[in-house]
Amino acid sequence: MEQVVILGGGPAGMTAAIYAARANLEPLCLIGESDEKKALFPGGQLMITTEVENFPGFPQGIQGPEMMLSFRRQAEKFGARVLEKFATRLELQKRPFEVHYDGQAVQTRSIIIATGASARWLGLPSEAALRGHGVSACATCDAFFYKGQDVAVVGGGDSALEEALFLTKFASKVYIIHRRDELRGSKVMRARAQQNPKIEFVWNSVIEEVLGVAEQKMSGVRLKNVLTGGFSTLNVTGLFIAIGHTPNSQLVEGMVEMTENGFIKVKHPTTYTSVAGVFACGDVIDPRYKQAITAAGTGCCAAIDVERWLGEQEASVEEVDSGLLERLVEESPKV
Ligand code: NAP
Repeated sequence: MEQVVILGGGPAGMTAAIYAARANLEPLCLIGESDEKKALFPGGQLMITTEVENFPGFPQGIQGPEMMLSFRRQAEKFGARVLEKFATRLELQKRPFEVHYDGQAVQTRSIIIATGASARWLGLPSEAALRGHGVSACATCDAFFYKGQDVAVVGGGDSALEEALFLTKFASKVYIIHRRDELRGSKVMRARAQQNPKIEFVWNSVIEEVLGVAEQKMSGVRLKNVLTGGFSTLNVTGLFIAIGHTPNSQLVEGMVEMTENGFIKVKHPTTYTSVAGVFACGDVIDPRYKQAITAAGTGCCAAIDVERWLGEQEASVEEVDSGLLERLVEESPKV
């Protein structure tokens, strides 16, 4: 039986793994498989990020995938077992819990859920039809295919700005389509995008349709100006969706308490969920900060919570045992 199974291989899961491994809990970590269409990768969102400039300790910046590999190596060094498998089902009503993956089930005394968040899509049928044929949620993965072409990015946050800046290395022109006329992204990223001569903003606009479905090859987007109600067409061959993320909490839907947006609720300031022995950390609990460093921080908290909780369980079993022994002695017939 496992002491703790950790689900997720991003900064939260791997930090939890480092701490749990150093506490001799020998964590089993299921970090998922690659699914390029859904922009899911073992190691999480940093696997599809370019330069990480704001993680303390790296004044020169570090590439996202390189950073995640280092997290993983550090966890493995202390005895974490890291498998590139998805957990497919959890049994949280049983004790010990059961975690199903790869056609088998493993028993565990505790679970840390660090399954992160995934890219959100616009939800248009034409967007779905052209995914992989011009529509993408990962510039790092696909920008190379758009050398010398005109492309567009949707969104006004840091993700959209980062994707757009990365795309300028390949594309000849990058449009940023935003539904307002004010960006949500940070000052430094806004300035970089605004100063880049290859980037042009298309304000107050939403995508009505992605064009090229019949040909299975994207040829443009039909836009609606939300102020005037007018329609226009933008001739681009690539469309990168960067409109935020949704928590990956489907695996525990109906099993642990969640917010209406699907974030797992924890008992602040701890990482305890509504089920004793199940802990959660990282982007799956965080609608507010969503940073690698904050995910790593709550990952650390989760491992410490698990270690203490397991200790408390052992202590209470010992108490029960010793109480039982006393009672048995009292109740046993005197000879
Ligand atoms: P975000 O900050 O939530 O921004 C999402 C953007 O998409 C917003 O501009 C939003 O518009 C727009 N949007 C949402 N739904 C839409 C829809 N259905 N149609 C059109 N537009 C839509 O998400 P994010 O950019 O992924 O960033 C998430 C967090 O990660 C942030 O804290 C960010 O700072 C951080 N991050 C940091 C970096 C970096 O530092 N290099 C890079 C990436 C992400 P409105 O503005 O109108 O709501």
